Amino acid sequence: MNQTESSGESNVPIPGTLIWYYMICPRQVWLMAHQLNPDEDNPDLGYGRFLQREAYRREKKEVSLDRSKMDFLDRVHGEMIVVEVKKSSRAIESNRLQLAHYLLTLEENGIYVKGELRFPDERKRETVILDDQLRQHVLSVRAAVRRIMVDENPPAPQKTKWCRSCAYAFFCWA
Ligand code: SF4
Repeated sequence: MNQTESSGESNVPIPGTLIWYYMICPRQVWLMAHQLNPDEDNPDLGYGRFLQREAYRREKKEVSLDRSKMDFLDRVHGEMIVVEVKKSSRAIESNRLQLAHYLLTLEENGIYVKGELRFPDERKRETVILDDQLRQHVLSVRAAVRRIMVDENPPAPQKTKWCRSCAYAFFCWA
């Protein structure tokens, strides 16, 4: 491991899903990054994929940039926004950070836009604006994710409210 990697300051792009996982559980970042496949029968995984495929099928147009896949771009009141569709707002902090990571990725490529989280099942939307505080938060989480990715061992499991529905429970508590 080189010094840049160990400090988490590498500029290697990281997928937005790893930002999301970090906010839920840092151990999941390591497991995902090391391509350990979660339990594919987990109902949360299946339903989430179904929702992403179907709920916004007509308007959906996935956008890929620097290893991040944003759900789609939309125009609201004449303004371009990045939209992320989520199954529920239960993990709202993770959702916000993932979307903020996309907004920062776009900003780094000279594109300045707002974001919007959409929860179709809850008929709810939330605007996400990348201000200085959020930008710093994204940068610190990116650095933490990079450190975990290059670590030889995963962080120890921690029992949280997410473990019960986690597709990786088998790797932690079997
Ligand atoms: S079961 Fe719990 S500790 Fe293990 S990866 Fe999932 S959320 Fe993290």
